[in-house]
Amino acid sequence: MSSPQAPSLASASHFTRAEIEAGRKLFAGDWQFAIAASSLAALPPMRGVELAIAGRSNVGKSSLINALTGRRALARISHTPGRTQELIFFSGPSRLTLVDMPGYGYAAAAKPKIKAWTGLIHAFLFGRANLARVYLLIDARHGLKLTDAEVLKTLDKAAVNYQVVLTKADAARQADLAALVVKTQTALAEHPAAHPDVLVTSARSRSGIPELRAAMARLINERGGG
Ligand code: GDP
Repeated sequence: MSSPQAPSLASASHFTRAEIEAGRKLFAGDWQFAIAASSLAALPPMRGVELAIAGRSNVGKSSLINALTGRRALARISHTPGRTQELIFFSGPSRLTLVDMPGYGYAAAAKPKIKAWTGLIHAFLFGRANLARVYLLIDARHGLKLTDAEVLKTLDKAAVNYQVVLTKADAARQADLAALVVKTQTALAEHPAAHPDVLVTSARSRSGIPELRAAMARLINERGGG
């Protein structure tokens, strides 16, 4: 078990109580599956603000989306066979949409599918004007991997604003976590499109979830609302 201080590491201290409350409000209410898109033509019209969630398969993406939205099984759909290569849109009570991006780094994925995945993702990242940020999830037990580095490069090229979110913080030792935050922030300093702060979360213990919501609310506020 981690100490009660765990969630505050590198995240909670950055947010005021009002910002935490704004984050809570942003996610309070009903979240729904909107659409799953496997081609550019299938993408929904741009509306409100979109925030995308990306990461390696098994990083804890579905669990984090469920924790953020307070819906226990909302993101289960991303694991449905045939859906794993799609961009999945979840719409919230305000004009915020979460976009679940296909997990990457799964060696068994067939070659042609990887190609299709890359084409759609690239087009989405390069052309989506209402995509405010990509949250790149990294497993707190493993840190950045080689495939993550490829994705960082792509995000830099697309000039999409992105931020790293560590997942499964409950499963990492406090000292290791602190070192990983520093190491990750140092690595990100070389990436022009990366947000300098790393957020630390656990979908299991819910630590860092209010702060992630607050970070999203702050971003939307900075952009002039949803
Ligand atoms: P996805 O493939 O990225 O959508 O990952 P999932 O959300 O399906 O999670 C993959 C595995 O990690 C599952 O076995 C989850 O129970 C586990 N997991 C997800 N979030 C957490 C967390 O916060 N803490 C721990 N310890 N395990 C987690």
